[in-house]
Amino acid sequence: MSRIASVLLPLPLPEAFDYAEPEEMGLCVGDQVAVPLGSREVHGVVAALRPAEGGNRPLKPVAARLEAEPLPERTLDFIQWAARYSVDLPGGPLAIALRGARAPKARPERVIEATGAEPGRLTPARARALAVARTGPRSGTDLARQAEVSAGVIKGLVDEGALAVRWIPADERFDAPDLTRTGQALNASQAAAAGLLQAMMAEGGFQVALLDGVTGSGKTEVYLEAAQAALAADPEAQVLVLLPEIALTQAVIGRFAERFAAAPGEWHSEIPAAQRRKVWDGVATGRCRIVVGARSALFLPFRHLALIVVDEEHDTSYKQEDGFIYQARDLAVARGKIEGASVVLASATPSLETLRNAEAGRYRWLRLATRHGTARLPDISLVDLRETALETGRWLSPPLVEAMAETYAAGEQTLLFLNRRGYAPLVLCKACGEKLTAPDTESWLVEHRYTGRLVCHLTGFSMPKPERCPHCGATESLVSIGPGVERVEEEARTLFPDARIAVFSSDTLWDAREARNLILAMEEGQIDILVATQAAAKGHNFPNLTLVGVVDADLGLRGGDLRAGERTFQLLAQATGRAGRRDRPGRAILQTYAPEHPVMQALQAQDRDAFIQAELVERELAGLPPFGRLAAVIVSGPDPQALEAFVRQMAELAPNTEGVQVYGPADAPLGLIRGRRRKRFLIRSDRTIDLSAYMAAWRARIRPPGAIRVAIDIDPYSFF
Ligand code: ADP
Repeated sequence: MSRIASVLLPLPLPEAFDYAEPEEMGLCVGDQVAVPLGSREVHGVVAALRPAEGGNRPLKPVAARLEAEPLPERTLDFIQWAARYSVDLPGGPLAIALRGARAPKARPERVIEATGAEPGRLTPARARALAVARTGPRSGTDLARQAEVSAGVIKGLVDEGALAVRWIPADERFDAPDLTRTGQALNASQAAAAGLLQAMMAEGGFQVALLDGVTGSGKTEVYLEAAQAALAADPEAQVLVLLPEIALTQAVIGRFAERFAAAPGEWHSEIPAAQRRKVWDGVATGRCRIVVGARSALFLPFRHLALIVVDEEHDTSYKQEDGFIYQARDLAVARGKIEGASVVLASATPSLETLRNAEAGRYRWLRLATRHGTARLPDISLVDLRETALETGRWLSPPLVEAMAETYAAGEQTLLFLNRRGYAPLVLCKACGEKLTAPDTESWLVEHRYTGRLVCHLTGFSMPKPERCPHCGATESLVSIGPGVERVEEEARTLFPDARIAVFSSDTLWDAREARNLILAMEEGQIDILVATQAAAKGHNFPNLTLVGVVDADLGLRGGDLRAGERTFQLLAQATGRAGRRDRPGRAILQTYAPEHPVMQALQAQDRDAFIQAELVERELAGLPPFGRLAAVIVSGPDPQALEAFVRQMAELAPNTEGVQVYGPADAPLGLIRGRRRKRFLIRSDRTIDLSAYMAAWRARIRPPGAIRVAIDIDPYSFF
């Protein structure tokens, strides 16, 4: 009986394509195959197989089955679920899932292992080397380091046949986690939370828990115990830990490596291709049992996923807004459900969505109310900039500068937090008043002094800072308005000329390693003042940091979108939470023009729950998430008239459904990006409505002409 294979391709196609299975191929669902498409051959994945019925027109045959690990069926289910939820084509998530499968295979690695033979002569160094080698194969360098012997000792043992060299495929080079090791002795509330998670792991199946604990309360320690329980409960179980920033992965990888004496698989965009393939294969074969990575790790082909941890679950970096649009925290819960896995969401400032689920009893709610040991939360004070005016061209107020001086004198560290990259967010011509913007985008050009360029942060466009105003031609008329991290650094240098000062922002650090080095320098006390954007304000432990100064606490509130208050609270609570770990008390100073704002009041009083309750009430009254659903549609095109005509027609074609309101079309706040005009719709629905299905139905009715693009964003986080 011949069969038909439906093959899903990592391309923008509406559905899987059918091919005939050659008689002898013996395909299975999930197999990676090569198939003809037009005049090309492309690689895809078998999504389904069914018997061929007579009378159909002949199909092209599958060209080959690839020598590659198949995609597990549940991974395929997840990809299709994600596409449906995001109202997008399955090719998008499939392409993400196959990113590692397409990288060239890593070369075999050379390892040394014990043969069982005894050497002729046993010195203490040789005994140490053999003892370590008997616990499993490892590279010669690792063996020498762990046994504290020289390379010569190892070579001697190899020559005598007590150790042997073997080449093994890269994806087999994942050490089995050592589950006999124990972690830190937990305090009472940590032990209670860990106990509940361990019970959850023992029970198995899909469950979600919120691990809600202030910064420094030991959430990582607790979820390490959950991972231990998951790995111990089933020899094939795999654990995935998601983090919002690449810069955070190293610290967590280090803690897993220490806890289980085995390095986890690392997954993010900066992993070299060969390494990527190694992790992909290791995850697909089940040899790699722990993965620590950024949001795209969620699409890896896990064979037996038992636990997903989403650390800093509130972080908006989990929302991917280019290409395939998704919210990784939400998809993690969906994947947990499909896999029958447990999900742990960890945060000191959980999202309203997650808190609502915990309150309603859909998630277990585990709280760690205090910092571990003697560490206390910092004292937070507000500087009212309406009363304590800043001097022109200065951004640090006298009370903050005074606190910095005290901190510096005490040999302790300061973090100045400003979520703004570059030197100045705006360059203005004082002759004609022109604000410099990118040529094809309606957004201000940000001045960067390190590079001497003006940069559009939306599109990446950049140009050297001009000598004359491009508008009126005046010379020496361009002035920099407002501060970015580089400008605050400049001010700090003038104030503290002898201090060691560094900037941490995505422009000043080229890659993850450089970021890691800066964080290490900070941890080791080699920096006195760190000026940082949010990249450094999350998750790190800086034992000697006792002062956090928030340069512009109101920054995040200005946009005024749905989550402005929530996000500002989360960000500032995280940033101020960096101060005063271990046994040194810390303090935080927030500079604000709106000290009476509920966000500032809640931060000062350290009363998260009152703030959350007030926010929830407002959201409920407005029927906004988590009480209702939102979707956005961004329609863009090069020609304003054609765009206008199309969005009008689109509005008329919106399905009429009770419980769904369509607002728009309206001009997007950023009306022009890369030469394309932009219009927006906002759609609100009740919670009971399947908004993805509604959007899919709407999309099916429209036929955008070639130049017009329609992007659907379910549960939008950006409103520009
Ligand atoms: P969180 O993830 O909640 O910010 P961490 O797990 O990173 O907290 O813990 C903060 C610091 O306290 C870390 O340096 C950690 O090693 C330490 N710590 C937490 N719990 C314990 C414990 N039970 N014993 C020893 N050290 C602990």
